[in-house]
Amino acid sequence: MQDTAANYLRIKKNMEEILVKSGRKADDALLIAVSKTKPIELMQPVYDAGCRDFGENHVQEIVDKYDKMPSDIRWHMIGHLQTNKVKYIVDKVYMIHSVDSLHLAEVISKEAVKKNVTVKILLEVNVAEEESKFGTTLEECRNLYESVVKLPNLDVRGLMTIAPYVADPEENRQYFANLRQLSVDLFEQNADNKSDVLLSMGMSNDYAVALEEGATMIRVGTDIFGERVYNV
Ligand SMILES: *Cc1c(COP(=O)(O)O)cnc(C)c1O
Repeated sequence: MQDTAANYLRIKKNMEEILVKSGRKADDALLIAVSKTKPIELMQPVYDAGCRDFGENHVQEIVDKYDKMPSDIRWHMIGHLQTNKVKYIVDKVYMIHSVDSLHLAEVISKEAVKKNVTVKILLEVNVAEEESKFGTTLEECRNLYESVVKLPNLDVRGLMTIAPYVADPEENRQYFANLRQLSVDLFEQNADNKSDVLLSMGMSNDYAVALEEGATMIRVGTDIFGERVYNV
């Protein structure tokens, strides 16, 4: 059995040390505990240790856990989102990290208007252009951004990427730097958004490098909850 609370606190401390070493403030980034496939019995200790931000990648799992966990949790939808499922979570999630098409953004916007909420979103960029991954290219993201900022009841807060799974996290440094540069290009023009553009990048394997390259949100699953077992 994993001591998930101790894992969480260890990674949080590590994150803070990396931030300070990089010349940033210790609270410059947020640690999101990625609890997908994991039972609430493993999540509760992490909550009790102070975590309020949990990441999930399936709509059904968010819906199931939502009622069972404390109501002050901020649920982050980090997985691919099908348009027909948007309506189930639009008023439950704190932020959707995985917006990768105008169509999806339009559906979220429409549902948000219906439910009279504003949804914080990030645009997902497939920086390494991996076949197996969702997300726009760096170039497509510029067009997507221009269209999405015009939609009602959406708050476009920044960018997200899932870097390749690599043995040496240094290999991902350039991808993180590219995403950061794009965020500067896109959001600096928009004075309102300038202050706190969000960069969701870095996972168990590469969060240290991501933080050094400017991540403001890291999404850590395995290092907190242990390996995931998928029943097929
Ligand atoms: C599963 C997942 C993570 C966490 O990955 P770990 O390697 O377990 O830390 C982060 N981001 C996304 C989008 C994920 O799907």
